[in-house]
Amino acid sequence: MTPTTLTGATTATTATTATTARTVTTATHCPYCSLQCGMRLVPVAGGPVPVEVSGREDFPVNRGALCGKGQNAAALLAPGARLTTPLVRDVRRDGTRGELRAASWTEALDRAAGGLAAVRDAYGADAVGVFGGGGLTNEKAYQLGKFARIALRTATIDYNGRFCMSSAAAAGKLAFGVDRGLPFPLADIPKTDCLILVGANPAETMPPALRYFREMRENGGTLIVVDPRRTRTAEQADLHLQPLPGTDLALALGLLHLLVADGMVDADFVAERTSGFEQARAAAMAHWPERVERITGVPVARLREAAHHFGRARTGMVLTARGPEQQSKGTDTVGAWINLCLASGKAGRLHSGYGCLTGQGNGQGGREHGQKADQLPGYRSIEDPAARTHVAAVWGVEPDALPRSGRSAYELLDSLGADGPEGVHALLLMGSNPVVSAPRAGRVVERLRSLELLVVSDLVLSETAQLADVVLPSTQWAEETGTMTNLEGRVLLRRRATQAPEGVRSDLWVLGELAQRLGATGRGGEGGFDTDPETVFAELCRASAGGQADYAGISYERIAAEDGVFWPCPAKDHPGTPRLFLDGFATPDGRARFAPVSHRPAAEEPDAEYPLYLTTGRVLAQYQSGAQTRRVAELNAAAPGPFVELHPRLAARLGVAEGDPLAVVSRRGRVVAPARITDTIRPDTVFMPFHWAGTGRANTLTNPALDPTSKMPEFKVCAVRVEPLPSGPASGRLSEPVSGPASERLSEPVSEPVGESK
Ligand code: SF4
Repeated sequence: MTPTTLTGATTATTATTATTARTVTTATHCPYCSLQCGMRLVPVAGGPVPVEVSGREDFPVNRGALCGKGQNAAALLAPGARLTTPLVRDVRRDGTRGELRAASWTEALDRAAGGLAAVRDAYGADAVGVFGGGGLTNEKAYQLGKFARIALRTATIDYNGRFCMSSAAAAGKLAFGVDRGLPFPLADIPKTDCLILVGANPAETMPPALRYFREMRENGGTLIVVDPRRTRTAEQADLHLQPLPGTDLALALGLLHLLVADGMVDADFVAERTSGFEQARAAAMAHWPERVERITGVPVARLREAAHHFGRARTGMVLTARGPEQQSKGTDTVGAWINLCLASGKAGRLHSGYGCLTGQGNGQGGREHGQKADQLPGYRSIEDPAARTHVAAVWGVEPDALPRSGRSAYELLDSLGADGPEGVHALLLMGSNPVVSAPRAGRVVERLRSLELLVVSDLVLSETAQLADVVLPSTQWAEETGTMTNLEGRVLLRRRATQAPEGVRSDLWVLGELAQRLGATGRGGEGGFDTDPETVFAELCRASAGGQADYAGISYERIAAEDGVFWPCPAKDHPGTPRLFLDGFATPDGRARFAPVSHRPAAEEPDAEYPLYLTTGRVLAQYQSGAQTRRVAELNAAAPGPFVELHPRLAARLGVAEGDPLAVVSRRGRVVAPARITDTIRPDTVFMPFHWAGTGRANTLTNPALDPTSKMPEFKVCAVRVEPLPSGPASGRLSEPVSGPASERLSEPVSEPVGESK
């Protein structure tokens, strides 16, 4: 075993043919999903990429395993794969926008800051918007929220994490008083007796996590998967329930009905540790099994089997992901699954509980430290006077100087360029690609084009950056240091392992430069915008002190020594909190609250004109909007383009063969992609992955109907019709102009995805 230094860099002796050299190895984490697998990076001299990636056996979350995305993460460090100079777009003499051209940092920053200030002066502070991302480090997310509130003085800030797991966050907070993705470490999963996985497909989204489910089954546990598709994850389940999209809420109510009817409620737990059971019970009793079968399509016998497995198990867990969450009733749906845990006494106990499998790399930390419209650092409400006073003191401003709560992500995007007081006319966007990832994306493109100024900071020229007036090339992952908080609430340290190319700057540096130009306090110190990540983290910890997501006792030094620290960790001598709720829930009375919820249909149900359900999701070899993974040759070869998954019976009815071009049409637009025929999907439903732009962009079709509590859009269900198209080039009728590489417009069938490394 090689020695680990304070910063996590290790040294190993490497034999070469001529000599013996010391090679510096950096322990860090993957740039992609919320699992944040541990990696080692070893420098490579003279190769196409500056480092070689391998999984860290000694990191407990992934124990050495990486999926294809992680294995190929270094490809984006190669010259030519990413942006290396700022870009600006000139306005032509006739007032139209010209092409993006290379610019100096001074010109780009002056243009950005000048434009933001001009819009603020012309329309007011809230007309300047800020849009962040769930992949930003904690330091960047914190600094971006602070920049919006005290440099721009705008309430108009939100982030793409709103699209990711905000319904689970809202439901968790309502039920338990606090939202943390998992209230226990992943390592607890193998020790539970029954696990229900709802709308989650870790076999494709986070393959190294699958081992926990396998180990649970090897230990005699039961895995139940709820998904409209028989996914790779569902194929490994003991029981797969395949409901209609958008009916998970009714399914959960039906299971609770059976727990009550068949005497499987833990009355002592309900009496001692919960409140609100009677209302939840009454709602569930109105969802008897036959009614639930009619709503969901899941046979009564299977409902009963699932209820009895879960209800009779000594310990149990329910984990949700985007399936139940990305609905216009996502908060209620997650609440109904939490009810199931509470009624059966499977929460706040060892090896039991509800959790959310967060998606983005820092989906958890990103929502804790201030880039969400209604939150201040430490998971504090921006409307709470005490929270405002505390954070304002850390920032060196008066509490009254802080703006109030702003609007949610889709509401923000929808107000771009709008007339009247709600209109947002300039936008600073960091680490997000809403042209591909937002619902009703065609409309979002229109709104972005109507802005007076769009400034995008990103490492690649994403489809959104292509629309910008100013593009700022940012450092990434192995080129910078910062903390991430994974789905377990474990705060981790990503370490710099290689030099960024000349011309690239960190987002922290960019925010400091913009703040100076906007007349906010300069860099460094309280109230300033420091550029050193460790200094920013220390300030974040002070700002979070006393909040729910309390990082006050965490430091880079501790994370390095302990390989991650679980929040809350309020003091330097506090051990951190791997497991929440064992001694009580974080509500004022310490009791978990049942959600009084009833089933209701999706915002848009199939009808004569649009007779099918569309549901969307991810594939193994691509990540989110694909801005990064579509630029990696190995991943692109494995998953080169969009497709429409449909059942053989539906294909026969439409006269469609494998690979035939199809148009999929919703009330919001029309896309074209090849057919992929499979009996793993319901005959009344089609599926599209959402990683691509252009003609096959799934989010052209999706419905931005928002959950009233979480403001999460209904990505997971809308009504469509499918039209076979004649083969050949004519099939590519466009729903809107296409930009981006040709690979995004492919119509050939998709090959096998890149697999897990071990
Ligand atoms: Fe990265 Fe894959 Fe691990 Fe997610 S599962 S952190 S994408 S290696």
